[in-house]
Amino acid sequence: MAPITDVLISEVGPRDGLQSIDTLMPTSAKISWIKDLANCGVAEVEVGSFVSAKLLPQMADTAQVVAGCKDIKNLEVAVLVPNFHGALAAIDAGAKKISLPFSVSETHIRKNLNRSHAEVLQDIAKIRQHIDSLPIEQRPHFEASLSTAFGCTLEGPIPEDVVVEKAELLMANGAAEVGLSDTTGYANPAQVTRLVKRIKSAVGNEKLTSIHLHNTRGLGLANALAAYQAGIRTFDSSQGGLGGCPFAPGASGNIVTEDLVFMFEAMGVNTGINLEKLIEIRKFLLTTLPNDPVYGFTPDAGLPKGFELTSNFNR
Ligand SMILES: [Zn+2]
Repeated sequence: MAPITDVLISEVGPRDGLQSIDTLMPTSAKISWIKDLANCGVAEVEVGSFVSAKLLPQMADTAQVVAGCKDIKNLEVAVLVPNFHGALAAIDAGAKKISLPFSVSETHIRKNLNRSHAEVLQDIAKIRQHIDSLPIEQRPHFEASLSTAFGCTLEGPIPEDVVVEKAELLMANGAAEVGLSDTTGYANPAQVTRLVKRIKSAVGNEKLTSIHLHNTRGLGLANALAAYQAGIRTFDSSQGGLGGCPFAPGASGNIVTEDLVFMFEAMGVNTGINLEKLIEIRKFLLTTLPNDPVYGFTPDAGLPKGFELTSNFNR
């Protein structure tokens, strides 16, 4: 049985990180990285995305990666799907959790998925129908995430009323849960607090438990803390903040898993992750992706003298 933790860190490096860099990581390397992550106590990894291989060649081997990871002990294998076909492929491959990104900004969704809100909602309903037709043990957890919820690079500010309204629509169309996603790195802690509270009260406390944050403007951990204090318990992050743009120093991708784990463990919040081991396996990224930036304050500075992890690893 998986250990009980206070928060769930969902590692998205193999998906969000790798899809944002040009280097193609070989399938076997992805699988061994994910195994190493699970060995550190990471209980959920988003291992890839069932998007068109033409669009994102980095994700072309997602079915093989799922197949290679689905039997790893104490690991939930999550994937991203853009549509119904992607969801079918994900379920066939054996993914346990599927997330569909629903851009609250219609301009963004048209650009990203080439479809309207109405069309994507129809797909969500079809995915729900399909999942419900499966034997219970084969049903994956199906989440729809509210992308660009904190602002859009194309539309600019997104009214909070619209985000709440879309959360209700996603639930009405069959998502088991919604997630909040700062796709663009625009979020600030006050906004995070407000939106988490508003969406929880609109769709139910248990129907919004996760957040996906980027550290684009350096507010990643502040936003994570605000989300935690507002009741969020699942946090997406990527090892080494993988996915940063090499041409914009400091403009890292996702929040850095190592720093996020450090923050929680230092606060007495149990992540279930062995931070020393996690820092140790960064070497793999540094050697496998020598031309891509790998971030993290904690790994650079080292753990404070006498630092004790909150998580207990005698299991
Ligand atoms: Zn992202």
